[in-house]
Amino acid sequence: MGRLAICPGSFDPVTNGHLDIIQRGAKVFDKMIVTVFHNQSKSPLFSVEERIELLKEATIELENVEVDSSSELLMEYAKQKEATAIIRGLRAVSDFEYEMQITSMNRKLNEDIETFFMMTNNEYSFLSSSMVKEVAKYHADVSDLVPKVVESALKKKFT
Ligand code: ADP
Repeated sequence: MGRLAICPGSFDPVTNGHLDIIQRGAKVFDKMIVTVFHNQSKSPLFSVEERIELLKEATIELENVEVDSSSELLMEYAKQKEATAIIRGLRAVSDFEYEMQITSMNRKLNEDIETFFMMTNNEYSFLSSSMVKEVAKYHADVSDLVPKVVESALKKKFT
C-alpha cells in the first residue's frame, strides 16, 4: 500500500497555506489523507460537509490525495488507516508550543506513528483560516489567500 500520511486540521476553510503543505507533503508520501476533524470546541463558519467539498475541489488535481472527516481521536484514526505519519504545518514561533504539546501527547498514545512538520512557505507565514474569515467578512479581496472555490464560498456566506 505504500506510505500513508494523514494531514489533520479544521480547514475552516482551506487556505493556500494549507494547500502548500498538502502539495509538498503529497510529493514525499505515497498517499495522503486530508482529514477534517470536528471534535474541537471551535464554532466553525463552514459545516464539515462544506469543508470537505471545498477541500475536494481544491485538491482535485492531486492524484494521491484523498479527503475525509472524523470525530475520533487523531491517533486512533491514524492507526485504523494504517498511517505511517502525521503531517502538520508550522508558521511562526507561536505555533510551536501548541504543536509540541499535541505531538508529545500523540507520541505517548502511539509511538509508531511519527509526526512531521513542514515549514510554511514564506508567502503564507501569516495566513490562517481565521484571518481569512475576518477579512472576508468585510468583503476584502482574499483571492491571493485561498483557492477560487473558497473565495466564492466566502462571498456567499457573507452576502
Ligand atoms: P487546527 O485547528 O488543527 O490547527 P488548521 O486547519 O488551522 O487546524 O490547520 C491545519 C494544519 O495546517 C496545521 O498544522 C496548521 O499549522 C497548518 N497551517 C495552517 N495555515 C498554514 C499556513 N499558512 N502555512 C503552513 N501551515 C499552515
